[in-house]
Amino acid sequence: MQSVSVVALPLDAMSALIGPERSARFMQAADRAREMLSGRTVWNVNATAQGGGVAEMLQTILAGAISLGIDTRWVVLDGDPEFFEITKRMHNMLHGDPGDGGDLGPDQHAHYEQILSANTASIADQIKPGDIVLLHDPQTAGMIKPLRDLGAHVIWRSHIGKDETNEIAQRAWAFLRPYVEHAEAVVVSRPTYAPPFTNPDQIFIVPPSIDPFAGKNVEIDPDTVADVLARVGVSDGVDSGNEITFPRRDGGAGVVRRHDDLIVAGGLLPAGADYVLQVSRWDRLKDMEGVMTAFTEHVVGHTDVHLLLVGPATAGVSDDPEGAEVLAQCQAAWARLPEAMQERVHLVCVPMDDIDENAYIINALQRAATVVLQKSLVEGFGLTVTEAMWKARPVLASDVGGIADQIEDGVSGLLLADPTDLAGCGELITRVLDDPELAARLALAGRARVLELFLGDRHLLQYGELFAHLLGAPPLVEPTAS
Ligand code: UDP
Repeated sequence: MQSVSVVALPLDAMSALIGPERSARFMQAADRAREMLSGRTVWNVNATAQGGGVAEMLQTILAGAISLGIDTRWVVLDGDPEFFEITKRMHNMLHGDPGDGGDLGPDQHAHYEQILSANTASIADQIKPGDIVLLHDPQTAGMIKPLRDLGAHVIWRSHIGKDETNEIAQRAWAFLRPYVEHAEAVVVSRPTYAPPFTNPDQIFIVPPSIDPFAGKNVEIDPDTVADVLARVGVSDGVDSGNEITFPRRDGGAGVVRRHDDLIVAGGLLPAGADYVLQVSRWDRLKDMEGVMTAFTEHVVGHTDVHLLLVGPATAGVSDDPEGAEVLAQCQAAWARLPEAMQERVHLVCVPMDDIDENAYIINALQRAATVVLQKSLVEGFGLTVTEAMWKARPVLASDVGGIADQIEDGVSGLLLADPTDLAGCGELITRVLDDPELAARLALAGRARVLELFLGDRHLLQYGELFAHLLGAPPLVEPTAS
């Protein structure tokens, strides 16, 4: 297994953001947590160090824990293509979608267990009895029992789910059940995402958070944003030639490289043009192609806005075997557009060979967007929504999954009731483009909502309380008498 290193969060800057009172309460809880966890390591195991919301969230939460002096480690499991095919199938099926249509039978159990036994064996000598292990998502569930047998407290954290279940999702849960039922606690982002067989008093609801100081979210001034877009070959703006630096997760700094191959369909974005942006992995459930159709059929004739569909370069996300196929479908759909539409739609793949540069480019793209869209068909939480709200962009997103916990419709963004409603999606886009006052109001309320609910202090406190519960320690924050 590969170990991922993360550097501490700047606590002073965090305090300045959240204010003295919230900060003092948090630091007091942190002191108690440090004492409670003394001598123990908190482990996180997931399937990838880069690409997608889980890696992003782990980066955030680990930076917070490390800055508080808690011994926290993050390791990434090793799998082969067959293992990731099985786990991607499970991922799709838990969302009620048949995925590649393959089986989840005895052969898949055997292969899944074989890979996870090898992974467990590779860290077994480092796990101490009493350590706490957070195993993330279906890829890791087969490690629950072996790690508990080593004396660790094991929590399974599932980041995915769908509000309504169906027979397909039930089959995926049946596959996972013999593994997950050994967990001492199960953490999900919403109550409806809990495994159907888990005892309710073992279920904990913990939504994710974002790190405002990471390359993905750090402030960038508008001139630098424009420079980044020109430097990486997304816009036709004039590149200043100035060195553009970005923060790295290891605490160092990187320099944005010149690129000329990010646009994989369409021409350069005219500098300063208004654009609608969706950032997603190339995953069918994100419906990038649906976004393109909504835009070309219901928005383009109305204004001179452009559309950017942005995802990772597909070779870079190891646990996502479908990415290249979905991207190819989007490119084919783009090729079928009339020429006038092709000028307005741009497909962008951001390189994954330097994950910190990738994050900074996404940051710049989000900051320069006129409107940010997330038209997912299903969504566990939707960090792209949080990220755009934090950057005070007006966000329009499907009323599905965790997106509904983030956006209060009409207040901190707009929700699309039916994610397959392309005309409705187009209507929301034009409504915001036509009404700058509405756009500004949604944007400001969006940022305030993230500040209140989706930063690391809330997230870490919830984990701290969960650990206290498992260890039989008193709560970290005393309930306030009212
Ligand atoms: N992301 C990225 N580069 C890309 C595409 C996505 O860094 O090219 C990030 C995005 O900014 C967000 C995460 O991947 O932080 C996606 O998380 P989300 O919860 O929206 O969806 P998931 O991928 O977990 O389904």
